[in-house]
Amino acid sequence: MAAMGLVIVPMSASAEWYRFSDTAMTTPIELEFWAEDKELANRVGKEVLAVFHQVDEQMSRYREESEVSRLNLNAPDGPVEVSDGLFEVIEKAREVSLLSQGAFDITFGSVGYLYDFRAGKKPTDEELRSGLPRVNFRDVILDEDDQTVEYRQAGILVDLGGIAKGYAVDLGIERLVSFGIRHARLSAGGDMRLLGDKRGRPWYVGIRDPRSEGRNAVVLPLEDVAVSTSGDYERFFVDEAGERVHHILSPETGKSVQGVQSVTIIGEDALTTDGLSTAVFVLGPKKGLEMIERLKGIDVVVIDDQRMMHVSEGLVPPQSD
Ligand code: ADP
Ligand code: MG
Repeated sequence: MAAMGLVIVPMSASAEWYRFSDTAMTTPIELEFWAEDKELANRVGKEVLAVFHQVDEQMSRYREESEVSRLNLNAPDGPVEVSDGLFEVIEKAREVSLLSQGAFDITFGSVGYLYDFRAGKKPTDEELRSGLPRVNFRDVILDEDDQTVEYRQAGILVDLGGIAKGYAVDLGIERLVSFGIRHARLSAGGDMRLLGDKRGRPWYVGIRDPRSEGRNAVVLPLEDVAVSTSGDYERFFVDEAGERVHHILSPETGKSVQGVQSVTIIGEDALTTDGLSTAVFVLGPKKGLEMIERLKGIDVVVIDDQRMMHVSEGLVPPQSD
């Protein structure tokens, strides 16, 4: 055994928290990390932010040249070979679909594209009826050996809006780790991942009040986890009947899911927490909690439409008696 000696490491003058922000994937990106050197920090910041633009270009359904758009165009005609990243995301999406019995479904696009939240436009029941037969994750066939994706029917529209940000956050964290960063917080809208702690303290993560921006419903001390929130306040309008029309849709009816205001999932990686937060939103508090309790290492906070909070067992404080 080597003797322990006192080693004095001179602290670099620029060891501090560095912060970067950007907009990509139509979402604000925020990055904060501890680095010992300003030059390194600037390089890390640039490379991590670039990840979000890369994933945007690859996975956006709104870009004609994206890999996802090419898939939507060609996969009805036969197997299409896709990149490692896209295959990983579609495979995870399928896993979450199976777990949630179809509540999460990346083929929701056939009805999803009939909405325009900014313009306050929603489809008629007739339009929904004609789009719904093309909403079915089981019609997306994956071949692991050839890394191909094929659609079983024409007109399927895959949209990764409910899961791609989580994937990008995980990639960004990988990049941070490769640079030797050990304390960081990286978020893309409602999807966040924490690397390590905040140097001796936990990170404090607020779950916002779904009906009051800037106010927290609860604050959780966390470290080294991924946290994803899905809310009905991100993109929505209120229709003539007074109903909130928002961006999380039931694959069964094609309509915005009612009964929940927000869902926050805590887990190991953001790809999983992103998919699951959307899935639990669609399932609702009861079925959603049942699904989460069956999964190891995953917790959930649901705020329902009565503003009641439902939490999984891992978050319930121990009884004091
Ligand atoms: P945010 O995009 O605000 O972070 P979510 O992760 O919950 O929130 O994703 C919502 C997005 O997921 C929608 O904008 C849409 O692109 C997509 N989506 C909506 N309904 C479903 C669904 N049932 N299954 C899978 N994806 C969905
Ligand atoms: Mg999601």
